[in-house]
Amino acid sequence: MSGGREGPDSHDEPGGRASHLKTLTSELEMARALDILALAGEILKEGFRCTQCGRCCRGEELSVLAFPGEVRGIMAHTGQSWLEVAEPPLLGEWDRMGNFHTLEWRLQKTPEGDCQFYHRGCKIYDHRPLLCRTYPFYLEEGRLVVSRCEGLGQEMEAHRALDLAGELKRRYVREMEEAIDLVMRYRDFERGPPSRDGACLVHDSEGQHRLSWDRLPGMLDRLCPASRDR
Ligand code: SF4
Repeated sequence: MSGGREGPDSHDEPGGRASHLKTLTSELEMARALDILALAGEILKEGFRCTQCGRCCRGEELSVLAFPGEVRGIMAHTGQSWLEVAEPPLLGEWDRMGNFHTLEWRLQKTPEGDCQFYHRGCKIYDHRPLLCRTYPFYLEEGRLVVSRCEGLGQEMEAHRALDLAGELKRRYVREMEEAIDLVMRYRDFERGPPSRDGACLVHDSEGQHRLSWDRLPGMLDRLCPASRDR
């Protein structure tokens, strides 16, 4: 399972940021105006029933975006710390001070690459992120998009399609709100080479979070092997 929008890239120049915000704001309006009944009709046509195969919760390619509020919800439920629940993604860029910048948070995975909360079913089912609640569907520019899943094409009840449509709309609105907050708070930076001297800076809808590498075991070695800058 993967999904969620990536961040602002290089939108810090005044024109770029303003036009990016305008695009996101009009998409937010579109999201808020979505007709849930019509969306439920589209979902019904696709048909879906979860077969409990667990494939969307496991494997190397799994990447589950969790918004800050969702991370806190899981923390409250499990008693885990922030970094036990979520980690920064490995995709990002370096600045001239040797800091690695990345966007948003992903649920922590096991060494095998599975979601840490998958044990013959989701152990945080009532607190799982919106991305999990709406899989294998998502909305892009107001259109329904379907990911690969063996449960597609199965007959489904109308009330399930309606519930799913409601969750999809909620996710779409939240994605737009989070993206707008992220762009508002994001400050661009001059790019530089990878270095082991800086820190990891995570940008999200609440601002920029600085994490020393000793709080992210193994991540620096994956991004910047010790021999690279020696
Ligand atoms: S949070 Fe639950 S539903 Fe989402 S990937 Fe993990 S085990 Fe699967």
